[in-house]
Amino acid sequence: MSLIVQKYGGTSVGDVERIQGVARRILGYRKAGHDVAVVVSAMSGETNRLVSMGETISDGQADPREMDVLTASGEQVTIALLSLALKAQGQRAKSYLADQIGIHTDSAHGRARIRHIDTDKLRSDLEMGTVPVVAGFQGVNDIGEITTLGRGGSDTSAVALAAALNADECEICTDVDGVYTADPRVVEAARRLSVVTFEEMLELASLGSKVLHPRSVEYAGRYGVPLRVVSTFEEGEGTLITIESEDMEQPLVSGIAHARDEAKITVSGVPDIPGIASKILGPVGRANVEVDMIVQNTGADGLTDFTFTVTRGDYDRTIRLLRDVATEISAREISGDNEIAKVSIVGVGMRSHAGVATRMFDCLASENINIQMISTSEIKISVVVAEKYLELAVRALHSEFDLDEE
Ligand code: ASP
Ligand code: MG
Repeated sequence: MSLIVQKYGGTSVGDVERIQGVARRILGYRKAGHDVAVVVSAMSGETNRLVSMGETISDGQADPREMDVLTASGEQVTIALLSLALKAQGQRAKSYLADQIGIHTDSAHGRARIRHIDTDKLRSDLEMGTVPVVAGFQGVNDIGEITTLGRGGSDTSAVALAAALNADECEICTDVDGVYTADPRVVEAARRLSVVTFEEMLELASLGSKVLHPRSVEYAGRYGVPLRVVSTFEEGEGTLITIESEDMEQPLVSGIAHARDEAKITVSGVPDIPGIASKILGPVGRANVEVDMIVQNTGADGLTDFTFTVTRGDYDRTIRLLRDVATEISAREISGDNEIAKVSIVGVGMRSHAGVATRMFDCLASENINIQMISTSEIKISVVVAEKYLELAVRALHSEFDLDEE
């Protein structure tokens, strides 16, 4: 008998009918002889609603502890409703908040990390044929305070639970039927991947593919939890995310990710001396702005330009922040562009093949798309382009690297 941890996202539990549908789906797995433990998100839109009420009432300066108490309540509703639905369909079930099980995290409110999960209660439920229904996204710290893992965090809850229970598989049940070679809304010829490696999935998720929370993939890779993305609403095998194996077919490029909401900032005419990068990026980091690509040009006449990207939502704030820094380091100018996007090709096959970058750049050149920044790692190449060329770039690369559906 195998043990499967299933996670249902917000749209899957978006209303009472859908929750009843999820209960039927779980029943199907029980009838097929599987043990099932379930993790759920809040109803779709609910976490947003809670966050916005909390922010409105606190004038944007919301206390993180109270925000966690508030936002964690969304999942309390869905665990209870799903357990009720399961019971109504004759299946034993029991809902659990994180502190009732012992999903222990650190104390970083709003972005807590799971340290340890107690499995005693869950194991005895499973032995009794009960389906435990666990609240995703939340945890409890050492002093009993409610914490949350960050938006989209219930994927990570599910993977952590699967690791703790040593489950055979962690299924992420969602509103798409798997991971695609590119966003099907952008590329009509995009294909569902049947298998992808943890490494590739981590890059895809971090570079803009929204199917899985990056941290859940990192966690699954670290603990070797086979992860599968499937549709809640349709049958199908979805996409299996697993370790790289010898007999796995390895295309040069497995997928193309894009991120639209990017912005770049250039601090030009800064003295080319030690400590400048840290003077510029230090305050940015302390303001909790996440910096992605960073480029520093070769200097001329003792001066250099320093360019980096941030998400578009952080653009104005970062520019304002840098005004003071610019004066302090006597930079000539701060400029920026918040209509850029990032396109990335990802594939473990790149590791053993030269010339992938050239092929990518040639392809973009032949479409007359200017590359503004480039960054690479062993299994990915990312470029920044003007946002208006994003779709064109993704489609051209998709066909260049033979990903189009036949
Ligand atoms: N409900 C939380 C959110 O909307 C967690 C999740 O959906 O994974 O961010
Ligand atoms: Mg989600």
